[in-house]
Amino acid sequence: MPTQTPPALRIMSFGAGVQSITQALLIQDGTLERPDAAIFSDTGWEPQGVYDMLDRVEREIFQPLGIPLYRVNNGVIQDDVLNPNKMRGIPGFTASKPYEVEVVDRWGICPDETCGWRKLRAARADTGVMSLFTIETFDLGDMDGLFEFLHLIPLGAPLSEVDEIAAQWAPPSDLDEDDYEDDDCEDDYLAATRIAAAVRQAGLDRVPGPHDICDSTGLVATASHTEIRRDFGMLNRKCTQTYKLQPILEQVRLLLGGTVGEGKVCRYCEGKGERVAPWRAKRDETEIAECSVCEGTGTISRVGQPPAGVWAEQWIGFSTDEIGRVSNRGDTRYSRSRYPLLELNMSRQQCIDYLNTRGWGDVVKSACLGCPFKNNAEWRRLRDTDPEGWAATVAFDKAYRDAPGMNHQRFLHASCLPLDEAPIDVKQAREWKASTVTDQVYAARLALADEGDPDGCSPYACRSGSAAA
Ligand code: SF4
Ligand SMILES: [Zn+2]
Ligand SMILES: [Zn+2]
Repeated sequence: MPTQTPPALRIMSFGAGVQSITQALLIQDGTLERPDAAIFSDTGWEPQGVYDMLDRVEREIFQPLGIPLYRVNNGVIQDDVLNPNKMRGIPGFTASKPYEVEVVDRWGICPDETCGWRKLRAARADTGVMSLFTIETFDLGDMDGLFEFLHLIPLGAPLSEVDEIAAQWAPPSDLDEDDYEDDDCEDDYLAATRIAAAVRQAGLDRVPGPHDICDSTGLVATASHTEIRRDFGMLNRKCTQTYKLQPILEQVRLLLGGTVGEGKVCRYCEGKGERVAPWRAKRDETEIAECSVCEGTGTISRVGQPPAGVWAEQWIGFSTDEIGRVSNRGDTRYSRSRYPLLELNMSRQQCIDYLNTRGWGDVVKSACLGCPFKNNAEWRRLRDTDPEGWAATVAFDKAYRDAPGMNHQRFLHASCLPLDEAPIDVKQAREWKASTVTDQVYAARLALADEGDPDGCSPYACRSGSAAA
């Protein structure tokens, strides 16, 4: 960690949201010293209001103070995500296609009177011993302990064999009972003795053999119905890292004197600049497209490390309510985080108040238009205040549905319904959870949405980012 020498540069990570504009104004009024540069990482998918605000800050604050604003990017996220030749993703919600399952409403005993499982069940209905047997008839592959042992008792084994196995695992007479309790052998011993007792009680001389009619359970379904089900999930994402943190750090290295290395031949496409993406080739697809690694250039050149000992102080605009997001995860050999708003003990609300007094009351939250982390209030606000952005996001959501090679479908809204059909007028749990306001008329909810989920997508803390100590 660079602590010995003073920083070569002070660089402000500028997200164009409430906190970072507050920082810019605090620089303007002299509360904070003037940094050497500001960096905005552009996913290419911000609401127009964010870009407008960025232009205004550059024009009215940065330029007069002589602070250069670097706009960096690592592609256009919404295009990349839909590009089958790129492996880029956002944290979308997933759902399997609907499928039918048979659900049993009522069980009856096996109709075959000679069935040993039926006898066993009748004799020991209330002991739970049946579960020991029935599980044994299922897949043993991923079972451990008890089941490994149970398959040592073959179906149809004579009682004498079960007794032998039980004896093999019996607790040694000189062993303290407490010691034995920790031992796996105890389970095996108990299981074998219980099985032997159940078989005896049912008047059988052996463990019943396999029985197809009842699937060796002693039970058959006598009434059932079909249900339509879907399985739900959420995709992993590295988008914050890829589209925000990475390009910022690259720019920081450049500013600190890191140089662009000599281009090496791209080994992913052997310098051709195009290829069949390996994940597509796996699916026997043959379409040749631009190599996503070298972006069609056939060569790869990276920005190298800055000279040893040269480092930058990286300003990150966390307010006091975001203290749980503070982490030095983003720190590197050449960059170290600083949190000016925390030093000033400013909360998000204080930032908003300050912005209002300075005539900057209409700051839009910075986050991708179609970010699946939006809550309903945010979706409503997009729909109701930015019809163009909404239409584009609805179109993206439709195009996003099916991913090649993926069984599940992808959705932007948590309900796993198409965005324009999703119940975004319902105030959902995650809005309630984050909001201090419990009931408001619709318009007021919209106004309060900022309180509901205050944090945009910061390069230093994913919106879902887990809190750091
Ligand atoms: S706003 Fe959402 S989709 Fe965009 S980079 Fe951040 S987490 Fe990813
Ligand atoms: Zn049976
Ligand atoms: Zn390549």
